[in-house]
Amino acid sequence: MSRIKELLATGQPGDAVTVKGWVRTKRELKDFAFLELNDGSSLAGLQAVLTPTVPNYDALIKQVNTGATVSCEGVLVASQGKNQRIELQAKALTLWGEADPTTYPLQKKRHSFEFLRTLGHLRGRTNTLGAVFRVRNACATAIHQFFQARGFLWVHTPIITASDCEGAGEMFGVTSLNLENLPKLANGQVDYSQDFFERPAYLTVSGQLEAEIMAMAFSNVYTFGPTFRAENSNTSRHLAEFWMVEPEMAFCDLEGDMDLAEDFLKFIFRYLLEHCPEDMQFFQDRIDQTVLATADQIIHNEFARVTYTEAVSLLEKSSRTFEFPVAWGLDLQSEHERYLAEDYFQKPVIVTDYPAKIKAFYMRLSEDGQTVRAMDILAPKIGEIIGGSQREERLDILTQRIQAQGLDPQTYWWYLDLRRYGTVPHAGFGLGFERLVQFMTGMDNIRDVIPFPRFPGSAEF
Ligand code: ATP
Ligand code: MG
Ligand code: MG
Ligand code: MG
Repeated sequence: MSRIKELLATGQPGDAVTVKGWVRTKRELKDFAFLELNDGSSLAGLQAVLTPTVPNYDALIKQVNTGATVSCEGVLVASQGKNQRIELQAKALTLWGEADPTTYPLQKKRHSFEFLRTLGHLRGRTNTLGAVFRVRNACATAIHQFFQARGFLWVHTPIITASDCEGAGEMFGVTSLNLENLPKLANGQVDYSQDFFERPAYLTVSGQLEAEIMAMAFSNVYTFGPTFRAENSNTSRHLAEFWMVEPEMAFCDLEGDMDLAEDFLKFIFRYLLEHCPEDMQFFQDRIDQTVLATADQIIHNEFARVTYTEAVSLLEKSSRTFEFPVAWGLDLQSEHERYLAEDYFQKPVIVTDYPAKIKAFYMRLSEDGQTVRAMDILAPKIGEIIGGSQREERLDILTQRIQAQGLDPQTYWWYLDLRRYGTVPHAGFGLGFERLVQFMTGMDNIRDVIPFPRFPGSAEF
């Protein structure tokens, strides 16, 4: 069997091949028929030409419709069509699975993404979602290549955890369905806080704290896995389940962290242009006409860098009216982030040194006692795609910061131990994988860059 992508690239007239895939379109003429076959390997399909010499032609051509699964055996021939170099002259066609044309929901016309979201089980067969999932695959591969080439260890941090990394209370609890065995509250109701074998447990919001553990033994590590946030959010950039890439480096400060993040994004864009040129051209032509220029700009220009204090003053001076207030000490909202990246700098911008009180406890407190060594990378059209920081490596200050945020140092005993035994300045960041894919493809909604989006009201399968 041959994959269509390979045939389109290297197949030669005269090659005998068998192609297996799904019928995208059927065109019936008087003495022959065209089937456009797609097997998911590439955006472009392979056109099969069927003539009555194909065994059982008359019956088959009635049964085979858009959406059907077939395999087609034949010979490649030069194509007369102007958009294709070769086509498949069929010798035999096997129908594996029919698709009733009166009920098959994917028609040739363009469907809205909202409609396609109701067809999560079929939407991978459309051009756009096909291109998205191939780009997603390429990005994931590029992520591993980038870190592996630099000697980072890929570590698998837990999905079920007891610690709330961000301290933001956005965790899903883990509940056993075996309610009989669970401890009960005084009022007789099940005590869900004791649910993980008599302890509380949650789905992780970030692998960072555990990645820090591993960095304290292996120097440079990264995690790449699913994370969960119980945010009842209906924005186009939040999901309840998303993937994060989180490198963590010992012997590294905020400057080293920013340099790595910038090199990383440049590498991923270069990889994508090289490995998915056809899909990227599709996004440029059909989704967002700035996609290729953005990629080019990322690869060839340095990102802007400003402090939070400077960013706030730029926002205050701007003539734009914002919905949310701007003032030193308030967190930047997505409209502010987008203004900075999209309108002011017109490229990604790294904002550093945020007020301590709006950031998590683990970020390193600066000499001014007011700001932390944090950085967010803001991208045009999306806003924040990366959040990172140098971590607090000093035991006394970290303990105070945990207490100041109303958290219990007892819960973080092991995290504090890392400062007690062989501490070292270290830094890392978290990249939202779906936001990266969104940024690269120009797709508007984060729900359309993950195969099975989880958001309020979703989760059919
Ligand atoms: P936001 O301000 O957009 O809510 P955050 O500051 O809460 O993001 P972090 O805790 O810094 O997010 O997480 C690191 C990265 O994970 C973010 O920069 C973003 O790319 C991604 N991310 C965070 N929350 C979500 C979400 N709900 N869905 C998808 N990606 C997310
Ligand atoms: Mg958030
Ligand atoms: Mg944020
Ligand atoms: Mg953040």
